[in-house]
Amino acid sequence: MPAAYQHYIDGEWTDGTGEETFTSRNPANGEELGEFRRGTEADVDRAVAAADEAFEEWKELSHIDRAEYLWDIYHELKERHDELGEIVTKECGKEISEGKADVTEAWHMVEWAAGDARHPKGDVVPSEIPSKDAYMRRKPRGVVGCITPWNFPVAIPFWHMAVALVEGNTVVFKPAEQTPWCAQILAEMFEDSGVPDGVFNMVQGFGDAGNAIVEDDRVDTVLFTGSAEVGHKIASKVGGEPGKLAACEMGGKNNIVITEKADLDVAVHSAVMSSFKTTGQRCVSSERLVVHEDVYDEFKERFVENAKNVAVGDPLDESTFMGPLIEAEHKQKVSEYNQLAKDEGVNVLVDREELEPEEIPDGHEEGHWVGPFVYEADPHEDLRCTHEEVFGPHVALLKYSGDIEDAVEIHNDTDYGLAGAIISENYRQINYFRDNADVGLAYGNLPCIGAEVQLPFGGVKKSGNGYPSAREVIEAVTERTAWTLNN
Ligand code: NAD
Repeated sequence: MPAAYQHYIDGEWTDGTGEETFTSRNPANGEELGEFRRGTEADVDRAVAAADEAFEEWKELSHIDRAEYLWDIYHELKERHDELGEIVTKECGKEISEGKADVTEAWHMVEWAAGDARHPKGDVVPSEIPSKDAYMRRKPRGVVGCITPWNFPVAIPFWHMAVALVEGNTVVFKPAEQTPWCAQILAEMFEDSGVPDGVFNMVQGFGDAGNAIVEDDRVDTVLFTGSAEVGHKIASKVGGEPGKLAACEMGGKNNIVITEKADLDVAVHSAVMSSFKTTGQRCVSSERLVVHEDVYDEFKERFVENAKNVAVGDPLDESTFMGPLIEAEHKQKVSEYNQLAKDEGVNVLVDREELEPEEIPDGHEEGHWVGPFVYEADPHEDLRCTHEEVFGPHVALLKYSGDIEDAVEIHNDTDYGLAGAIISENYRQINYFRDNADVGLAYGNLPCIGAEVQLPFGGVKKSGNGYPSAREVIEAVTERTAWTLNN
């Protein structure tokens, strides 16, 4: 372990210009994982300059040649899958199966992007003039800034960068301050791939470094994933600048609708997975369970039983269902929302906010532990706890009567629109939900989690600004031109 890990700019490891460093810690036990340089505006300036210069030659390579570097990374991600999964778990506290799944999602994206290099990139279209050829072509936009959250520290950066690079853009990556070790490994992979200097650059640091990317005129596209609070600021800053674009993927307050026609085994499994896996810290985690009155009591009993017994503990232990929260500040936020729910007069069913001492594994007293918090609330009351994203195992049961139209009305009654699920064995209900739920990601008879790179991944309303990621990143990192040729 060096004294402090560095930034990777223009093909070199560098301390950068700042004096400050910051420490990455394991959220399960407080163990120090490494010391990292904190990037400054001057470091971002250098990284953007390098990316800008490298763009001129990188864009001249064929898609297939550019993809060769990504194939190397794909093989490394696959070969080091378990080892990297453990590192993800150590740095962000996700259960080990989830840590490994993060790496799997990363190589899926790299495989998609590199494989896509050999696919058609535009359209040949009919012309009104017989002698004219007409095409839609794509060009890379230039320098892409990637600003990512901590909760998928390997997958999300690749969801941003893999397509951007294959399409001919160069990249400045600013990882989350909570997961710099994962980012360090990712930068080492780019170095090992031999990608030309300046094509991939990484500046470690905090929001000020991210902001410097957003404000730099030489950055053509900002790809951001994170909270709505930060995403909307970025979108409005960039929105005013001609020629610049920000694709922002943000949070959610996601629902699962459980109708009177649901298979309750599927319903309970889906709700437990979606509400508690990764300790509720996924953008698609469900914090609202909208349950029909006919099945409400039975569902409630079974869900509450699970919430009382779900195993919280060392995320490296295969039998753990829920690991810790990411950091003390976030634990404080979750705790404040639990208190807010009580203050707003909900009926608390499970309160495991403070774990029993015997639940905390030996040597893990410094972890940011929290258990499920489950309550019933009136779906028609405008409560903050049932409408704002908590990003923790904080779950409201909302009972409805009537038909699927009533359930979907409750489902759509938040400002967010990221993900939602329906559990039902009735086709009319399922189809109504599919067509009317205001979300970018809709799941039927599945937990409200999961992503596939060959589908768009993004939200509507407050959760997104119209540029989903995964395969659709191409829309944010390329310009379409109409090309016509008279023969
Ligand atoms: P965050 O918004 O706090 O931080 C995300 C990134 O933005 C970090 O790298 C951070 O340093 C940077 N940043 C902070 N302030 C900035 C500024 N002013 N300008 C530029 N960059 C800035 O989010 P987080 O806590 O890391 O992640 C959790 C959030 O991300 C949740 O809201 C979750 O729902 C959301 N999320 C969304 C998706 C999705 O695909 N829609 C996926 C994962 C997480």
